Amino acid sequence: MSNLIAEILSVDGERPIIRLFMDGFKFRCIRCASLCCRLGGPPLSRSDITRIKRLGYDVSYFSRSASTDKVYIYRGAEGAMKDKADGSCIFLRFDSDDGRYECSVYEGRPDLCRLFPFYIIHSSSGSVLLGYIPCCRGINDPHGDSVDESYISTFLIEAIRNVLKNMHSGSSSAADDRPANRGDAISD
Ligand code: SF4
Ligand code: SF4
Repeated sequence: MSNLIAEILSVDGERPIIRLFMDGFKFRCIRCASLCCRLGGPPLSRSDITRIKRLGYDVSYFSRSASTDKVYIYRGAEGAMKDKADGSCIFLRFDSDDGRYECSVYEGRPDLCRLFPFYIIHSSSGSVLLGYIPCCRGINDPHGDSVDESYISTFLIEAIRNVLKNMHSGSSSAADDRPANRGDAISD
C-alpha cells in the first residue's frame, strides 16, 4: 500500500520500535474540518465515553446506540457520537475569530479522533502498520510537524494502543485486518 508511513514493532513495549517508510513526511491540522468532523463523529469505546463524561457532559447528550452503525471495525464500540442536524459531530464548533473549526472536547476527544488522519492495520506478523488518509488537507503541509519516530511515540502511540484494544474486544465477526480509522469505522 502506498499510503503507509511506518511499521511499529512491540507496540506495547515501553519504547516501541518504529521503522519509517517515508522520510520528510509532514502533517499539521489546519482545522478545516472538511474531511473529518463535519462528516460525523466516531464510534466510542468505554474509555472514550468516560473521558468525555469527566469533562462534564452527560452521556445522553453525546452518545447514541452503536448498534445502528456499521462499527464492524471497532468491535469494542459502546456507542457512537451523536451528530448535529447538518451531519457534523455534536462537539464541532466554528471559531469565528480565526475562521477555523475546533473540537470542544479536544483534551478528551475519542481515540479514533486522536489517530486521524492516520490509520492502523494489524499485520500478519503482529506488528502494526501506520498509514495516512491522503484527502486530509493537512497532509504534507510545509509548516507541519515531521511525522517521525518521535512524533509517533509522542502523539500517536497511546491512541494506537487504545484503538487496537478496542478493535479486538467485543463480539463482532469482522475480520481483524481491516484498517481502523474514523472514516472507515463510521462509513455507511
Ligand atoms: S485532520 Fe485534516 S481534514 Fe481534519 S481538520 Fe485537520 S487538516 Fe482538516
Ligand atoms: S470529538 Fe472532536 S475531533 Fe472528534 S469528531 Fe467530534 S469535533 Fe471532531
